[in-house]
Amino acid sequence: MLPIIGSERPDSENKIAVRNPATGEVIDYVPSLSREEVRKAIEIAYDSFPKLNSITPAKRSRALMEVASLIRENSEELALTMTKETGRPIKSSRAEIERTAQIFELASSEVKRALEGDFIPLDLYEYPAGNEKRIAMIKREPIGVVAAITPFNFPAASFAHKVAPALAVGNTVIFKPSSLTPLTQIKLAEIVLKKFPEGSINVVTGNSEMIGEEFVSNDKVSLITFTGSVSVGLDLASKAVRNGKRVIMELGGSDAMIVLEDADLDKAVKAALIGRFDYAGQFCNATKRVIVRKEIEEEFTKKLKEELRKFKAGDPMDETVDIPPLISEDAVKRMKDFLEDAIKNGGEKVFEGSVPNKGYYFPPVVLRLEPKSKARVLREEVFGPILPIVPVNTDDEAVNVANSTEYGLDASIFTSNFSRAYEIASKLKAGTVIINDTTRLRWDNLPFGGVLKSGIGRESVINTMLEMTETKLIVYSR
Ligand code: NAD
Repeated sequence: MLPIIGSERPDSENKIAVRNPATGEVIDYVPSLSREEVRKAIEIAYDSFPKLNSITPAKRSRALMEVASLIRENSEELALTMTKETGRPIKSSRAEIERTAQIFELASSEVKRALEGDFIPLDLYEYPAGNEKRIAMIKREPIGVVAAITPFNFPAASFAHKVAPALAVGNTVIFKPSSLTPLTQIKLAEIVLKKFPEGSINVVTGNSEMIGEEFVSNDKVSLITFTGSVSVGLDLASKAVRNGKRVIMELGGSDAMIVLEDADLDKAVKAALIGRFDYAGQFCNATKRVIVRKEIEEEFTKKLKEELRKFKAGDPMDETVDIPPLISEDAVKRMKDFLEDAIKNGGEKVFEGSVPNKGYYFPPVVLRLEPKSKARVLREEVFGPILPIVPVNTDDEAVNVANSTEYGLDASIFTSNFSRAYEIASKLKAGTVIINDTTRLRWDNLPFGGVLKSGIGRESVINTMLEMTETKLIVYSR
């Protein structure tokens, strides 16, 4: 497929192959654009700003509703494209496309709240003198060109999280998909452009580092919204801020799930399995570590193994498959390294499943590790189906283990005692703490994001709109 720069669909002899992770086969190509072309795309986004803003917010709100309808009309094709390029099981791809339509609908309604503004009689305040004759108005204005970069794992929803709020408040967009999964997002951009003026969204494909460098250094870009790994995100953020740009960073996580001895174990087991093995664990808020009170460790592990045996790995097009392939050969290699390191550092393998031998599959693995182990799986982000179980003696020890990484995205606690859960929740370093449910939940209009290195800012439709606007104070003196 070809990228989109204004009215043009540029091609190049230099191409990037897009592969189906379930087979390793090439399914399409995107061109690797030159820096000149990326600059041109930014220029077009910048020049299209007045055109987008000549449409009233009320009309943009209606257009977003129409985009949602078009997404639903094309849902099967979008879901199939997504499964082919990501390996995500087809039933989940369908659900993500429906969610994507709903995010556009949310943006359509929330733009009214985001742009409402305020009116303040200044005689409410004594300072500065002369306030009897002054009134103030606060309005929100679009920030300008928004540059968006997204990861491979959920191309449709991550597109909507960035593009729908940006267009709603009147910002034009320059969009860079993951080179591994650009197809769904180009299709979504084509749909958006059926209802928004040419140049409102432009999609560039090519060398990630070069595109990132251009985004953070180009004076015509006002804001960078990035979802992806900590190392890339923080590097881009520091350069962008140095160049006076605003940033929204949604980065990695090493989410911990704490299971106390009074928990509903069946519920906890189900949450751990969904949290870790759904989509082969490739979610930022996947459950990456389970910390369990020693009193119930044996029973919890036994039940977990029993249930995990029922999980089916295989072709993501098969409706009954739970564990799909990983995104790439590199991802499989990373899992092998994590496992080897964990075993070297005292890890005991308590379960290993089986997977097809063609495609980028890695088997589901459950490990037992002592809290003091130096294994990388307890400190780094594991984006794959390895689940470490760490036994602890006290609630405080559970909190210490949970807080022992540089991440702070989500966490969950399983207990039947709310005050105990609340106390632990208050001590956890996390943007979201979920009690008695999986970490792998996100509500699109509630603040989502991380503390520590897991991110900067919060992404929800309304929060993103506020981040993507400038607040202007206008004071009138009679
Ligand atoms: P990644 O950081 O490798 O890539 C993310 C995006 O950045 C891709 O588009 C990639 O092409 C681009 N990129 C890579 N190097 C770049 C560079 N030097 N300059 C500019 N752009 C560059 O991440 P990934 O493997 O695609 O996705 C997985 C990561 O994303 C995990 O860490 C996961 O936790 C995170 N993630 C976070 C959230 C969240 O909301 N917090 C959601 C999904 C994924």
